[in-house]
Amino acid sequence: MPETTSSPPPSALPPLAKGTLYLVATPIGNLEDITLRAIRTLRECDLVAAEDTRRSGQLLRHLGISKRMISCFAHNERRRADEVVSLLRTGGIVALVSDAGTPGISDPGERLARCVLEAGFRVESVPGPCALVSALTASGLPTGEFHFIGFLPTKSGQRSRRLGEILRLPGTLVIYESPYRVEKLLVELASLVPQRAVVMARELTKRHEEYLRGTAETLLQVWKERPRKGEFVVMIAPALEGDKEMECTSAPETELASPESEESVIADGE
Ligand code: SAM
Repeated sequence: MPETTSSPPPSALPPLAKGTLYLVATPIGNLEDITLRAIRTLRECDLVAAEDTRRSGQLLRHLGISKRMISCFAHNERRRADEVVSLLRTGGIVALVSDAGTPGISDPGERLARCVLEAGFRVESVPGPCALVSALTASGLPTGEFHFIGFLPTKSGQRSRRLGEILRLPGTLVIYESPYRVEKLLVELASLVPQRAVVMARELTKRHEEYLRGTAETLLQVWKERPRKGEFVVMIAPALEGDKEMECTSAPETELASPESEESVIADGE
């Protein structure tokens, strides 16, 4: 028999497991990033629970899939969990998708998964795109130990307390930040950790994907010359031994000196 590299015919694949909640990762920009398994799960499940049914409906249409959908977002996740568990009890198969990326990562999914497990049913992950993993692995920063922070609080007191906590952690820090607060975050970092390398990953997997590398101060200069739009992951290198950093307990203080030698900003993908 000649060797073949094509995927096995659908009949050779194990069927989806009854009474299971599948957490299905979907593209974060580039539609080619959907996996074969994600497509099959969406095609063969009984119900798709979606953060936004209109948005996921477009993805399903693009894939040529027509499926019953319900919404599942932060404010109805608990109630939806009861409905999902009822369906699983009858042997139903449910796929959860978020607007983009991996459900449960700064998106609905955690609570639903917990409720399903507590009710004694299976939860399976159908892995795929996740902004955190894409950004970190291409950042050039240490990947051996990292801390995923998700979104920082927006209220200033909570935010500066949280920054104080996380900047003491070892390993690379990975933060999801709104485009409206990226500049604010750079100002905070330039003051709190002026010597650390910072990488901003923007518009991952999309046409204008780029990585901006430098210190917070140099990135701030670049930002002021040309503010960017789109989605961002901001990563902060671990502190190097001997780095002098301010006690990260309070809001940024402007009198702090900028780094002695300013690293130039390296922008990929421009
Ligand atoms: N569940 C998603 C995941 O697996 O990454 C994250 C959803 S969270 C609501 C959205 C945030 O993820 C954005 O504000 C941004 O920080 C980050 N993000 C999502 N897509 C991105 C992209 N294409 N490029 C850069 N950051 C992205």
